[in-house]
Parts: sequence; structure tokens; C-alpha cells
Amino acid sequence: MSGRFAPSPTAALHLGNLRTALLAWLFARSSGRRFRLRVEDLDTLRVSAGGDVARQQLADLLALGLDFDGDVVWQSERRDAYAAAIASLDTYECFCTRREIAEAPSAPHADGYRPYTGTCLRLTAARRAELASTRRPALRVRAAGERCTVTDLWAGSVTGTVDDFVLVRNDGVPAYNLAVVVDDLAMGVDQVVRGDDLLSSSPRQAWLATRLGGVPPTYAHVPLALNRSGVRLAKRDGAVTLADLARLGMDADRVLAVLARSLGLATSREHVTLPQLLERFDPLQLPRHPWVVDPSDYADADVNRMSIT
Ligand code: GLU
Repeated sequence: MSGRFAPSPTAALHLGNLRTALLAWLFARSSGRRFRLRVEDLDTLRVSAGGDVARQQLADLLALGLDFDGDVVWQSERRDAYAAAIASLDTYECFCTRREIAEAPSAPHADGYRPYTGTCLRLTAARRAELASTRRPALRVRAAGERCTVTDLWAGSVTGTVDDFVLVRNDGVPAYNLAVVVDDLAMGVDQVVRGDDLLSSSPRQAWLATRLGGVPPTYAHVPLALNRSGVRLAKRDGAVTLADLARLGMDADRVLAVLARSLGLATSREHVTLPQLLERFDPLQLPRHPWVVDPSDYADADVNRMSIT
């Protein structure tokens, strides 16, 4: 039994990412699980720079004291496992462009995701041959609109209709939904704690886990961190990474204290340790709303002078 944290190495971890990592660690450790780490570096466009970013991300987690078990799993080294999973599934090629999918008569989900309507299932042989001569196909799984329900700590029961989602993109890169599920099963992950922007993907992923002969994990989708304007926190919001904050004199212990306070696990300015946080941790008492990151709440005058909108 394991929990995990699975960052994409696109940028340094910011306070919101670090808070999710801390929560994932607390959920895992407080329930006697192992805590695994996975680098989601499949996006080949980013992979070369991603190595350095990933190493910094791991160093930042360790600086906070978030230790993990076993080897770090790098998705870029797991192509064979994804291929084996694909071979066991009922799939078909899809030649649709992004634009064609956007223009198809399907209602987008609340998060903007457009369920696939199965256009490429209905191609004539001639049309298929024509498309195949000019376009590279993506690979989709045949899900036939099955419904799948997951249970989330905060959101409760979430039911989704599973469309024929993409397993391999048309540039040959395994899709996020496939890689996450194959890896979570292989890594013994039965507890997924991550940002709530991924909540709507979870019925699709739970369905795929079952299809691959596994048991879907339990989910806790953490409300995101926002900036003072109510927009999802990003690096451009000022001093939000460990490196930024260290330059302003805040060491990892102080950052841990800020994160703990945002979770209701510490009082203002209180110095806390991870063992103390583990003792205080109660999943049912966690805040249910997004965390608005306001440096004036935690930082010294130096940090307050940073322009943060
Ligand atoms: N790599 C994803 C991210 O950084 C997380 C995927 C997951 O936790 O399932 O947002």
C-alpha cells in the first residue's frame, strides 16, 4: 500500500505544489503506507530541461523533510510498461485533429474537456486510408460510454461517463491518463492525493485501472492554491518557490510552518516538525476551500515588498 506524489518537471514546485506534496506525505505516513515519488516527464518537448527541474523538485521535497520510499520512477523509462498495457486493451486509431474534436457536436464538460464522439469508429475503409496517408493517428481506448464512480474525500461520489479517451497521442507519446494508471498500479499506489484540477479525470482513470485488472485507489483531491486575485497560483506570482523564499531569508522550516498553518495544523508563526504534524493530522478536519496565498500573512517586510498580485 502506497501513496505518492507525481510532479511534472515543468517548473520549480511552488507553495501550492509543496502543500499538496506535504498532504500526500501526511496521508500516506499517517496511514502506515509507503510514500512513492514519480517524475511525470513524458512530454518529450520538455524532457531535456526537465531532468534538472525534476532533480530540483526532489531536492525541495527533501529539504522540507518529505522522504520517500523505493526508487524514484521516471515515466520516460516506462515505455515498455505502457506498450504492454495498450496491447491488453481494446483500442482504435483516431485521425481527428484538435480542431475537428472541438467542432464535434458534443457538450464540453465543466473543465472544458470534450468527450470524444467516436468519429473514427465510423470511418469507411477508403476515408481511413486517405487520412492515414496524411496524418499520424492517436490511439483511443474503446470505452463505449460506460459510467464510473469514484469516491473523493472532499467531493464525495463523483460519477463520470467514460469516453473513448486517448491512450497514445498522435506524436507517439503515451497520454497522461494511461501513464498515471499503469504506474500507480505498478507502484502499488492505492491512495491518490493531488490537486483538484484532476478530479474530473479520476472516473476515467479508475475505469482504466479496473480494465487493466487492478483496483482503483482512494482519492483526495486537494483544493488548489490561489493568488490574491483568486487565480491559480503560479511562479509569476512572486516569491512562491523554496529558492525564492530562501533568497528572502525564509528557510525550509519556516516554509513548512506556513504550509502547516494553511492546513490548520499550526498556529501563527509556530515552529512545527513533521512528527508533530503527523500527530495532529486528521483528514476530516482539513480545510475544504482553496488556499489564498497572501505573503503578508507569513513573510517579513522583505517578502511583503515583492510585487504579488
Ligand atoms: N503530474 C501531474 C501534475 O503535476 C499530477 C498527476 C497525478 O497526480 O495524477 O499535475
